Amino acid sequence: MIYLKTQEEIELLRESSLLVSKTLAELAKIIRPGITTAKLDEVAEEFIRDNGATPAFKGYGGFPASICTSVNDQIVHGIPSDKVVLKEGDMISVDCGTFKNGFVGDSAYTFAVGEVDPEVERLMLTTKESLFIGIGQAVEGKRVGDIGYAIQSYCEERGFSVVREMVGHGVGHKMHEDPQVPNYGRRGTGSMLRDGMVICIEPMICQGKKDLVFERDGWTTRTRDGKCAAHYEHAVAIHKGKADILSDFGIIEEVLRKQSH
Ligand code: MG
Ligand code: MG
Repeated sequence: MIYLKTQEEIELLRESSLLVSKTLAELAKIIRPGITTAKLDEVAEEFIRDNGATPAFKGYGGFPASICTSVNDQIVHGIPSDKVVLKEGDMISVDCGTFKNGFVGDSAYTFAVGEVDPEVERLMLTTKESLFIGIGQAVEGKRVGDIGYAIQSYCEERGFSVVREMVGHGVGHKMHEDPQVPNYGRRGTGSMLRDGMVICIEPMICQGKKDLVFERDGWTTRTRDGKCAAHYEHAVAIHKGKADILSDFGIIEEVLRKQSH
């Protein structure tokens, strides 16, 4: 069942979503060659708790950490580890969730570690652009399939492929609510988008083929062909007919801009 939110509830979801963005911005400050993904997890958890929230991922379905860290050919749900040391030229997708005032924030961003291969940079940029192309469809009267169609065609036209096994979702008191929001699909199909719906749109896009394998930890997904995958996620409310993005990449990108100077 799709649970429509009041304006008050959307503001609480915004607060939780912005805390995720701020947490990702804290990580942007320290992502560099030599840091472990366990350290990123430690910093994220401390920041979330210092801000009066709890990490929504920790313990969710038994997940052992506060963030998912997926490096290079890992697609999503990578487990932070002191054995994973980032190196120059890596890319890392960080997915983060918070639970604050009874509402879940959920957003993800893919970072370059130092300088990445131009094709990897194109993958990252296309994935992020496809997220906003999808958000452009998140208006009242359109359907969930319109979002998926827009993301899929944008990425496939550029030579990339779309993961099928994992999808976006409604978000609210719970991290995963109805409806499911696939990053692929057909126009004019699926649930109708209505005012008060809050959904996470999260393209997971592969440089090569879309087929994935699970690692032995039971969580981490990896591309079967070993090529890179990127992941960006925004929480979006449909408000007064239009898309209202609750998380904010601007906070993260301000940190990244300062670093590049
Ligand atoms: Mg997420
Ligand atoms: Mg999500």
